[in-house]
Amino acid sequence: MAKRTKKTGVTGKFGARYGVKAKNKHRKIEEKQRKYHKCPNCGHFKLKRESTAIWVCGKCGAKFAGGAYIPQTDAGTEVKKIIKGIVGGE
Ligand SMILES: [Zn+2]
Repeated sequence: MAKRTKKTGVTGKFGARYGVKAKNKHRKIEEKQRKYHKCPNCGHFKLKRESTAIWVCGKCGAKFAGGAYIPQTDAGTEVKKIIKGIVGGE
């Protein structure tokens, strides 16, 4: 029983629907959003997604907005750099 959804993983809930390609794509994202991430505040791997783009740390209680499915996106990092450049330049 334990190996029943080894191949399909979290997309096992969709059953035989939606096709393998779409499910594989979905699985990549959902597995990333569900696991614990590193908290930028305290450094512990206790960061969990509370809602879309809302991340809460179970260790220090930090709550912040990030990416919809991962705490930090490449686009978000770029924006942060730009903001830093503007604020620091003044
Ligand atoms: Zn924390």
